[in-house]
Amino acid sequence: MTVEKPWIELYSDTKTKPTDGMRLAMYNAVVGDEQHYEDPTVTELCRRVAELLGKEDAVYLPSGTMANEIALQVHCRPGDEVVADQTAHLNNSEGGGPSANAGVTVNKLDGPEGIYTAQQLSAAINRPPSRYSTRPRLVWVEQTSNFGGGTIWPLERIQEVCSLARKANLKLHMDGARLMNAVVGSGVSAKDYADSFDSVWIDFSKGLGAPVGAVLAGSKAFIQEAWRVKQRLGGSMRQAGIIAAGALYSLDHHVDRLKDDHTNAQVLAEGLSKIPGISVRRTQTMTNIVWFDVSDTGLSAAEVVHMAQRAGIGLGTFGPTLLRAVTHLSVSRSEIDQALSRIQTIVEQNAKPQGAQGNRSQHSTSFVMY
Ligand SMILES: *Cc1c(COP(=O)(O)O)cnc(C)c1O
Repeated sequence: MTVEKPWIELYSDTKTKPTDGMRLAMYNAVVGDEQHYEDPTVTELCRRVAELLGKEDAVYLPSGTMANEIALQVHCRPGDEVVADQTAHLNNSEGGGPSANAGVTVNKLDGPEGIYTAQQLSAAINRPPSRYSTRPRLVWVEQTSNFGGGTIWPLERIQEVCSLARKANLKLHMDGARLMNAVVGSGVSAKDYADSFDSVWIDFSKGLGAPVGAVLAGSKAFIQEAWRVKQRLGGSMRQAGIIAAGALYSLDHHVDRLKDDHTNAQVLAEGLSKIPGISVRRTQTMTNIVWFDVSDTGLSAAEVVHMAQRAGIGLGTFGPTLLRAVTHLSVSRSEIDQALSRIQTIVEQNAKPQGAQGNRSQHSTSFVMY
């Protein structure tokens, strides 16, 4: 595909590339055999994250998906039930991992914007004990909620949910892939958000901008069991300090700057909402994610993605008319402005007339990619 204009990547914050400063830190990393605890850079990264999250211990993993799958296997036994929002990553993006790897079922709650209420949780877990039903074992919170719209779980909601789960003798896990976005977006510390959870992890390959890895934290006993599952899944590494150095660098240099991504997301959401035919799910963005619907343009999400690609913009879709744009350290404010004007042009030139809305009929309908 030929793209005439400089590429603007809004598909995901996973697309960030290591900066020069990060590459230099990686080049200079002191390394050793990670699975024998001999890599000083990995050891330091785990110490830093355990401290950040207020936990006893932590383990470095190749991905956040593995952190989730390990937590399921440590906390649950086959046949157990996990309670999570239906939008959560474990339900939609882990290839059926909860059932395949841990043998668990997920009770999917339908929370507004990915954040279920204390009442919904209470109804789900406070059932009369019965050998006929699955046994709830683990309560799951995704901070921020990705498919919910980059929304931040308020601390009070987290505290309500945790106290309900504790009363019912359940374990608690936080998928904190974008926890640092929540921290920067709300001013609440990572420790406060993580406080009541048995396990919590943060991703380094999202907005923090490192190339690989996540760190999962919890009690010493939890991390010991997590290591066993990590070994079993093939996640134990060797000279992983070379990538952990990028993660350490991101903790020092890429946390505060997340606020720029949040500002850019806000500008993007407002700009998109002014384009006729586009409706933005949440015009007051909370972090770095913008979901928007193009059904009133008469175009499908796939068509818009394809045309955006030709115009030099990466976008994601989920559903027939829903699109996602994510801001991150490789997208500047001026690129956001450029992206907006390119998307506006795409919609103006390609929106299709719809039913009685005759005023759209002046637009060409010929430009349909597939
Ligand atoms: C990206 C993501 C994951 C998985 O992390 P990877 O490092 O890509 O495996 C899990 N949960 C959420 C909410 C995510 O956004």
